[in-house]
Amino acid sequence: MRYADSSGNLPIKGLSTAQANGGGLSVCIADGSAHTKLKAEFVDRDSIGGGNWVPVRAEIADEIAYRTPGFSGWQQERWFTHCSDGAEFLGAMGKQELLRAGADAVQVIRDESGYDSDKWEYYFDSLNAEHGPATAYLFKCRHCGTIGGYSDCQ
Ligand SMILES: [Zn+2]
Repeated sequence: MRYADSSGNLPIKGLSTAQANGGGLSVCIADGSAHTKLKAEFVDRDSIGGGNWVPVRAEIADEIAYRTPGFSGWQQERWFTHCSDGAEFLGAMGKQELLRAGADAVQVIRDESGYDSDKWEYYFDSLNAEHGPATAYLFKCRHCGTIGGYSDCQ
């Protein structure tokens, strides 16, 4: 039971550390080592939840990993979890889509990016659902409606 071995202790902290080091878009590129490391450590359903996101039961992880249509990110995909369950994937989003999704959505992606105001504006402008260089992935909790997600870049 690989999932049971690693649940609640996913090695995603490396991402936060890398992001905390700051540095605008160059972070995404310079972070190659961190993302490569994540890729090496994550397999499929291990990328469900983790970090600040709640762990889910193995059955739920299975359902998301094997019976839910996935999406394709620039880096290793992650799946937002909330209320001990996998959230609904709302879609890949650029700046315009995020603005339409509402202030909560923008704030979630901004908080997760870890960028301060100047870098955030630059990064926000670069968000594009199809072409990048950065894309946001938005989710909504199926139980309480909380919006969650993250973004990554090429
Ligand atoms: Zn919830």
